[in-house]
Amino acid sequence: MALLELRNVYKAFGGLQAINNVSLTVNEGEIVSIIGPNGAGKSTLFNLITGVYKPDAGEILFEGKPIHGLKPNEICRRGIARTFQNLRLFTNLTVLENVLISQHHRIKSHWLSAILRTPQYLKEEEEMHQRALEKLSFFGPRLMTFRLRQPVYVLSYANRRRTEMARAMATGAKLLLLDEPSAGMNPRETQEITQIIRRMRDEGGYTIVLVEHKMNLVGEISDRVVVLDYGEKIAEGDYKDVVNDPRVIEAYLGR
Ligand code: ADP
Ligand code: MG
Repeated sequence: MALLELRNVYKAFGGLQAINNVSLTVNEGEIVSIIGPNGAGKSTLFNLITGVYKPDAGEILFEGKPIHGLKPNEICRRGIARTFQNLRLFTNLTVLENVLISQHHRIKSHWLSAILRTPQYLKEEEEMHQRALEKLSFFGPRLMTFRLRQPVYVLSYANRRRTEMARAMATGAKLLLLDEPSAGMNPRETQEITQIIRRMRDEGGYTIVLVEHKMNLVGEISDRVVVLDYGEKIAEGDYKDVVNDPRVIEAYLGR
């Protein structure tokens, strides 16, 4: 069974068909990249999967169960987390606080036990803390030690992206949707994030769908590449096959 499956999904904004009859499966443990020119529908696809938008038609299944009617927070609880093309961190909070906040829906204790600081609540708090450190450790000592207790507004763009990825992992999700994880990163940082995404899969056990413009990153880590153009899936397969596909070349040159 596929971890994620889209069946004939449609989404229009007024007269604009942003996602047009897209079907797609993602298997557990895969890294799948979505590419395509600006305006192709990549971010809209993520918004549909995460419940920000509801499809006009079609179905979205996660672990075999429909999720297309659920609210974003319910979809997150089911196990899908994302990062945004334009970062959405709480910039006045620290790196650690941002990663802790994403776990609040996991707290099982009654709210009163949080106020009373019961042993059960303190245990849960400690677990959240450990989980935050574990996820941040994917990104090396910069975030783990130097930046942990600094507010996000002092961080570089690359560190903000890393913090957002750690936050997505800490939600407890199985499936991570990364919208342009290397945006704003220099070549060295891009190379590093490429390796980290692979480790998130290999060591973290995450399944990953990413939207990315940097083709060296896409080519290096994708098990499969899906190409969107004007809301339609125009190609899918191996990176090498896809980038040599005349329809794909045409779509990029035609813009
Ligand atoms: P991509 O991420 O591939 O660059 P998007 O998914 O952001 O593309 O956008 C696909 C198309 O849908 C674009 O033409 C965009 O202008 C349009 N679009 C996206 N979101 C909205 C919205 N909320 N309202 C109206 N049009 C939108
Ligand atoms: Mg986009």
